Amino acid sequence: MMSEQCKLSRRTFVKGAAAAGALASLGLTAGYELSGLQQAKAQNNVNAQTFRNACPRNCYDTCAILTTVEDGVITKVTGNPDNTYTRGKLCVKGNSYTRMVYAPDRIKYPMRQKGRGSGNWERISWDEAFTEIAQNILKIKETYGSTLPICLNKYSGNFDIMHYGIEGTMASIGYTTRAIGTPCWPAGIDAQTFDFGTIYNNDPEDILNSKYLILWGVNPAWCAVHSMYIIEEAKKNGCKIIAIDPILTATASRADMFIQIKPSTDGALALGMAKYIYDNNLYDADWLIRNAKGYEEFFGYVNNNITLEWAAEKTGIPVAVIEQLAREYATADPANIWIGYGMQRHTNGGANVRAIDALAAITGNVGKKGGGAQYAQLETWGFNYHAMVKPQPEGTTGDGDRGINMNNFGADVLAAQDPPIKMMWIAARNPVAQDPEVSVVLKAFEAMDFVVTADLFMNDTVKMSDIVLPVTTPFESPGVNVSYWHYWLNLNEQAIKPIGECKNDVEIAMGLSAKMNELSPGSCTYPTSGDLDEWVEKEFNDGILKQFGLKDFDELKQKGTVKAKSGLIAWERGNFRTPSRKYELYSEEAEKFGNHPLPVYVEEMQAPSGYPFRCISPHWKLNIHSQFQNIDWMEAINDQPFVEIHPNVAKRLGIQTGDAVKVYNDLGYVQLAAKITGTISEDTLVVYEAWYKNKNFNINYTVKAIPADMGAKATGMPGIAFHDNFVNITKV
Ligand code: SF4
Repeated sequence: MMSEQCKLSRRTFVKGAAAAGALASLGLTAGYELSGLQQAKAQNNVNAQTFRNACPRNCYDTCAILTTVEDGVITKVTGNPDNTYTRGKLCVKGNSYTRMVYAPDRIKYPMRQKGRGSGNWERISWDEAFTEIAQNILKIKETYGSTLPICLNKYSGNFDIMHYGIEGTMASIGYTTRAIGTPCWPAGIDAQTFDFGTIYNNDPEDILNSKYLILWGVNPAWCAVHSMYIIEEAKKNGCKIIAIDPILTATASRADMFIQIKPSTDGALALGMAKYIYDNNLYDADWLIRNAKGYEEFFGYVNNNITLEWAAEKTGIPVAVIEQLAREYATADPANIWIGYGMQRHTNGGANVRAIDALAAITGNVGKKGGGAQYAQLETWGFNYHAMVKPQPEGTTGDGDRGINMNNFGADVLAAQDPPIKMMWIAARNPVAQDPEVSVVLKAFEAMDFVVTADLFMNDTVKMSDIVLPVTTPFESPGVNVSYWHYWLNLNEQAIKPIGECKNDVEIAMGLSAKMNELSPGSCTYPTSGDLDEWVEKEFNDGILKQFGLKDFDELKQKGTVKAKSGLIAWERGNFRTPSRKYELYSEEAEKFGNHPLPVYVEEMQAPSGYPFRCISPHWKLNIHSQFQNIDWMEAINDQPFVEIHPNVAKRLGIQTGDAVKVYNDLGYVQLAAKITGTISEDTLVVYEAWYKNKNFNINYTVKAIPADMGAKATGMPGIAFHDNFVNITKV
């Protein structure tokens, strides 16, 4: 039976669901208050305090939040109006933070599970938890003479700078095994690294200067809602908005023109456009001569190998539309392209991104206000990483950490030898829900001697651990956040006391270090105590203060949110970071990593016999990977995983909306509800990836660990072709 705490009051439900329903199509909501007892208390309290927080999730927007606290309880969160990107608003997910913090099913105490996967949990003290973890680490070290059998798998659940205390924990006990790479965006990072030298996008607020904007495989109406305001304003200013996507998304529905493309053929469209631009002398020869390497070879390739008819056949887009798009893009000044992350989750994903980058280069739209080929930026991430960088204990032997592939995690854990992996530490990740080949990932967990997770909720990965450590939300400990998209720096203040016995990651690291040193003096170099606010301050250096125009850290404390003062237009002064210091249409680096040096077309994967549908599993508006969908407000909006099916396919298979269907291939299957929609093409199915806490649903049971074509240079491992997942579907 649902506990009293867990029930939504009728008032809150109606208020939340109605408003959320109205605005959720854009992923936006107004600020909500807590209901019930907390709201009643708040109404009588004139001593409300406001704190500055930041959303640390893996989201383009990294919002600056204003948090209202009354009697020690958060009663409201809203966007900080001082931040011109956040604009005083949060998305539907951000507004649910009040529900996340006080969720009755949040993990509030350290717990031990008797029998991994059994659900037989008991509450233990932090001292017991630290003792058990420390004993396991020390036992491994004694048995193997090394801490390499301990594997850390941590990534994007929390990007607050203090969260790097997890990596610091590992460094401070010796060399360990690390899951390296990233599932999200590596092929695109490498593509841009080969072309430009690194990822570096214009300030998204610069979209206001664009005259033509191609939203290529990106859905900001769901995934970067604050950029949508800018896009709408640009549109009012006369910027033409084009959406290219296999799905008629919420963003595409608001564009001036929607071009539905066959998945994984983006490179063919870009090269078809390049051919038109070349044939019609619409390229910027001056810019290419001054800034680019390999343009003659590129034009030679395009001229000899690409026709518009070929591009039309590959992409499913008529020749006339390709011509129109190419002409408009090449003649608009400035013209901008925003490249999404979905298109690079293919075996030819990096090559596709390189072909799109090339369009910006040949038309001279690089280094320009309102122009560019936007993907991401890490220009504002120059912290000290003081929480992370720690020396190994004295006497540590070996050559350094061992890397295994995060994108083939289960198999690589099982295959590791000399020494084998015996213990896992999982933080800010939910690999059982998010990784491909889930059944192999589960086997890897089963093979461990000891598994520690640190998390907010009892998710699928926590269920496979021996000890779970409860962690704080952004409101319960201090930190600082920057974005991989915009150029704001947001302070995160501690607004409330930690719920239950939750700890921040640096506190966990310090507590474990104290216990390890008690059991075995000198075995861990992490400090054993310290003030968290001081830890945050130590992350700053002169470079980052200067970048944000700050005199010192106190000035950030005063302002709460500040924007970078320079570097807002990527490559404005050229200075490309490639080996030639030019934009490289011809990249020897790409060749070194097994790719063609030019941005040529790499054939897309074809459906194998028996599995005629490509199943795309993109982000859903109510979650970020496995976060948020479990919050009660999200469940109130939708608690039913579904698969989108084209009406003709549904008719052929006798499927109606709401029918239970099975999506399957030779790897596994998921059972879910059918939703018939004309927003996709007949050869495509869409299943939004999410973790539903009360549903046995995980699309990754069908996803194979097929590597993307790029990613190894910049991130250590290739990306993963999540969207080259071929399946069949049947009515249950
Ligand atoms: S999920 Fe993204 S848009 Fe929503 S509050 Fe967090 S950073 Fe902002």
